[in-house]
Amino acid sequence: MTIFVTGGAGFIGSALVRQLVAAGDSVVTIDKLTYAGNLENLSGLDATGRHRFVQADICDVDAMRGLFAEHRPDIVYHLAAESHVDRSIDDPLAFVRTNVLGTAALLTAALDHWRGLPKGNGFRFLHVSTDEVYGELDATGLFSEASPYQPNSPYSSSKASSDHLARAWHRTYGLPVMVSNCSNNYGPYQYPEKLIPVVALNALEGKALPIYGKGENVRDWIHVDDHAAGLRAIMARGRLGETYLVGSRSERTNIDLVRQICRILDELQPAAQPYESLITHVTDRPGHDARYAIDPTKAETELGWRPRHSLEDGLRETIAWYIANRDWCARAGERSRIGLGHAA
Ligand code: NAD
Repeated sequence: MTIFVTGGAGFIGSALVRQLVAAGDSVVTIDKLTYAGNLENLSGLDATGRHRFVQADICDVDAMRGLFAEHRPDIVYHLAAESHVDRSIDDPLAFVRTNVLGTAALLTAALDHWRGLPKGNGFRFLHVSTDEVYGELDATGLFSEASPYQPNSPYSSSKASSDHLARAWHRTYGLPVMVSNCSNNYGPYQYPEKLIPVVALNALEGKALPIYGKGENVRDWIHVDDHAAGLRAIMARGRLGETYLVGSRSERTNIDLVRQICRILDELQPAAQPYESLITHVTDRPGHDARYAIDPTKAETELGWRPRHSLEDGLRETIAWYIANRDWCARAGERSRIGLGHAA
């Protein structure tokens, strides 16, 4: 069994690759290594003999065709994307290029490969996406697989477009595709521009913890390892052509989440003042969605998948990882483009 993981040098992709290789699978990671891709996230895996890294751009359809022909994968997890909302507001075309055109190029190469396989080959393609494609919720209600698409940012609209392309390649060409939409992820190796690493690292340096607006926006948090396990469950037991929502019923307002991180930091790395004193409110992000929250019942009942981490335990483990790996964070890159209130 050969598995392709696109975007496997990023935050979620590398968590997935680590799980797959640990489970004994052979993985080819395909990643362009943008600012968000980091080979350190995959360190030690090549030595197992079950992992290969290929630097390539998913927008390059000929390169993708070449990789399918060379490695003949049995399944594909597609995670490569531009992933940060604030960057999408500044440079939307980069998001359209990778998330829309890149997904179309990858689907095209996968289709050519699948058409050359014998009948009953079992090939599967999982397109990994976000709950932000559904827009925002008011104080009540949950996103489900039946929610209408109403993306509000350049990031979420480019991901919504890619979801439609994936479904169209299934309906039009019969490509064995599934789609997953997940809530906000947290955990080790998250690029230090997203809410949780920014708050943890700024706090440790005694810097301000800027919160968009009043901090009342609600996000639904899931540990990255639970998401990766959910993706593996969809690949193993999901029905072709279906969408699965992945979430762990862990809603928090941004201000409550930041206070929770500060409390954990007060315990793990006490400072002269409580970390909460560093919280600073800044002008809100344009078009900032009020609330996201997922109903994961379909994934839980059909796939038998359940998240293992409570938010408190997962956050504690994650903050401890950032404290122990500040050198990784420094090497991972610039933190000048701080995105707050949001993690996808
Ligand atoms: P990330 O930014 O950490 O990683 C993205 C990876 O894709 C990077 O390694 C980058 O180098 C690579 N990449 C970017 N453009 C590429 C291209 N043109 N060709 C090949 N590789 C390219 O993102 P992440 O947080 O790990 O998210 C992974 C996927 O999961 C994305 O599709 C994202 O939309 C989705 N998702 C993320 C979240 C979240 O909370 N982070 C939630 C739900 C869904």
